[in-house]
Amino acid sequence: MTFTIFFVLLTLATAVALPNDVVHLLKPHSGSAGHKHHGLNCLSWRLAVETNNLRNWTQVPATCEAYVGHYMLGKQYGQDCAVVTYAAYEYAKGLNLAKDGKDVWIFDIDETALSNLPYYSRDTIPYNETSFNAWVAEAVAPAVPASLKLYNGSVKLGFKIVFLTGSHDTFTEARIKNLKAVGYTTWEKLILKKAGEGSGVVYKSSKRKELVDAGYRIRGNIGDQWSDLLGSNAGDRTFKLPDPMYYIG
Ligand SMILES: [Mg+2]
Repeated sequence: MTFTIFFVLLTLATAVALPNDVVHLLKPHSGSAGHKHHGLNCLSWRLAVETNNLRNWTQVPATCEAYVGHYMLGKQYGQDCAVVTYAAYEYAKGLNLAKDGKDVWIFDIDETALSNLPYYSRDTIPYNETSFNAWVAEAVAPAVPASLKLYNGSVKLGFKIVFLTGSHDTFTEARIKNLKAVGYTTWEKLILKKAGEGSGVVYKSSKRKELVDAGYRIRGNIGDQWSDLLGSNAGDRTFKLPDPMYYIG
């Protein structure tokens, strides 16, 4: 499994408001020991990441760490998410639902339904599994505003919502608490990963197959990782939210 988190080196010392009005200080976090890519255009790098031309990358190029920090904590990230979810909602509106409770929309959780930016922008400790798990257990992640809007719109249109996450099922209660606290109040299924269920595309494909085998029709699927959206039974349409922070293969 390729699950590599890199650490955004945030070099601003100013506060920037996230779309949900939670303010986080931008401070140096933890530098990657990445190689310098002299002359690399960071927007070009990000575009290549988002289009899945660059794969299996393990860290943001050192020269783009500040760029990614600005991107994520500034306005552009939220605006990019809003364009994605606008397209998703326009597509959703045009679908004819069977009204049998089987038309589902799949939402990934991390960096899709919920944002871990408050964790990644902390200046206390660098990313590690222990501290990240502790953050998840706190159940205080804000919603990604654009995703919450799409969620609410999808529910109103009559879709059944399935949250499908690679998050371990030991965090089931924390995730339920967190989702509900920020406005994701109802769902058909909340699927977390059990031990031994694989990872990435394999795990998500197998869970989607279970849904299809149970008679659900996956009309839409949204996630921040390509591994949310590739593989079998990906859905009639998929929508990729931006995430230049980490890559999950
Ligand atoms: Mg995710």
